[in-house]
Amino acid sequence: MQQRAVIVLAFCLVVLALATGVWRYAYKQGLDQLAARGQADLALAGDRLVGQLQRYRDLAVVMADHPGVSEALIGRPDGGTEALLLEVADKSAALDLLILDPDGALVTSAQGKVPRDLGTYPYVQRALRGALGWGHGSAEPLTRRAFFHAAPVFGTSGGVIGAVLMVTDLNGIDYNWRGTNPAAFFTDAAGEVYISNRSELLFWQRPEGEPGLVPPQGAAPPFEARLIGGHEIWKLGWGPYLPQEALHLTQALPVIGMTGEVLLDVAQTQALALAQAAAVAGLCLAFGSLLFLAAERRRALARANAQLEYRVAERTAALRETNAKLVAEAAEREEAQAALRQAQDDLVQAGKLSALGQMSAGISHELNQPLMAIRSFAENAVQFMERGAPERAGDNLNRISDMARRMGRIIQNLRAFARQETGQPERIELGRVIEAAIDLTRGHVEDAGVRLIYDAPKGPLWVKGGEVRLGQVFVNLITNAVDAMAESEEKILRVEVSEDAALAVHFRDTGPGIEMPDKVFDPFYTTKQVGKTAGMGLGLSISYGIVQSLGGQIKGSNSDAGGATFTVTLERAERKAEAA
Ligand code: ADP
Repeated sequence: MQQRAVIVLAFCLVVLALATGVWRYAYKQGLDQLAARGQADLALAGDRLVGQLQRYRDLAVVMADHPGVSEALIGRPDGGTEALLLEVADKSAALDLLILDPDGALVTSAQGKVPRDLGTYPYVQRALRGALGWGHGSAEPLTRRAFFHAAPVFGTSGGVIGAVLMVTDLNGIDYNWRGTNPAAFFTDAAGEVYISNRSELLFWQRPEGEPGLVPPQGAAPPFEARLIGGHEIWKLGWGPYLPQEALHLTQALPVIGMTGEVLLDVAQTQALALAQAAAVAGLCLAFGSLLFLAAERRRALARANAQLEYRVAERTAALRETNAKLVAEAAEREEAQAALRQAQDDLVQAGKLSALGQMSAGISHELNQPLMAIRSFAENAVQFMERGAPERAGDNLNRISDMARRMGRIIQNLRAFARQETGQPERIELGRVIEAAIDLTRGHVEDAGVRLIYDAPKGPLWVKGGEVRLGQVFVNLITNAVDAMAESEEKILRVEVSEDAALAVHFRDTGPGIEMPDKVFDPFYTTKQVGKTAGMGLGLSISYGIVQSLGGQIKGSNSDAGGATFTVTLERAERKAEAA
């Protein structure tokens, strides 16, 4: 801001300096032109004055040769000479015409009203010495300002016998040019203004060794003189008919012993110079303003840009912060999800263990039965050996081997069931999982007197799933069906596989049906009484979670014939792995 103010101030100062320079130069040029014109005007005015006065000089010379004048000087004057003088004076508009004797005393005159001591005037003395004399001065009472021309009158012997004095009224001469322009005046050798076209300047006196003029009486009005480019400029307060400020020019007029002076008004020249300076200053200022505006605009743009950048940076920082927060939140969520997954896995495991607990009686029965059979087969085999019937003993050993294999399969299923399985669904064979679940629950099913009917599909059916998890779901559905049919007369559980776009496994029982089909998948929903078969209400909800995580669906409904049907739908797995 401050810097800008300094620049603007400096620019204004430079423009001011330039304008002043232009003004000075233009003023000087104007003064030169004015001076040239003024000098010509002054020369013209001087010539005119000299010409007018010279007429009287010539008349004086002619009159000096007039026989009437000689006669008046030789003899005594008579009325005839006076009449001649008067006639000549009247016709030439001279103020007076006088004839003087060699001593300068008046012989006769046209008016007869001039001072007596004319002989003492230098121009008269000059004429009496035989030369032409001229001068100015008072001719009172006729006039205050008169110009005198004295011409010698020569006698027949060639000597000066007298002089003719022509008196011209200067009022009559400058009366004609009064008020004309420019203001001009003529000063005599003593510096007194004697002739002028501004009557108020008459008789003003030039102070000794100084420029300007002062009035004959009263206080001197304001005056100041200075030189501009070699021209003398006067500053005046000399009244309304004289310029306030004027160029002063002079021209010597030795023929009449005076100096012509002129005062040329410089107001117009000044105005012109001022106009030129103002035009230059205006142009500079306009140009400067344009530059300033352009700079301002650029500065404003730069400021807006900086602001924008600042805002963008601010926004970016905010975004970065938000992003970091989001990342942190995502990490937290991932952590929570991992914890949830862990909890779910734990729950699945817990569900499995609970199922195992429920199935333990059946399983032990399942293992016990072949064990007892093995024992009796072994005992029989011993007896057969003793009786010497080794083939029968061999049969028994084969059976024992079968039983052991069956027991091994049961234990293998159990181990697999107990294993904890996590991770993405993989490609598994559905028939094998169903059979393993049926195997595991066989004891429980048989104990409850339930007939399980299962038509195994013809070929392998590949689905997306996890063997252990899916096995858990099927074990749970079979166990639930068996539990539900505890009080039923007819106890049949059908396990069917239907093949569409997706594969579905249906578990249809002949029990009482589901009490509240909307609620069976809710956690902790159970109708099983405490103490008896003691349900936790978690089996179906865990199964629901497992099937969902494998990308399948589980539904429970009541069939029209009575009894419940649970259906697990699974996505088919692509055959590429099979091909590989
Ligand atoms: P639990 O077996 O511990 O009760 P589940 O989640 O496995 O827990 O079952 C919840 C409830 O769903 C059971 O208590 C029962 O009321 C009902 N249910 C499950 N399967 C059947 C079925 N096949 N027939 C009738 N009701 C069933």
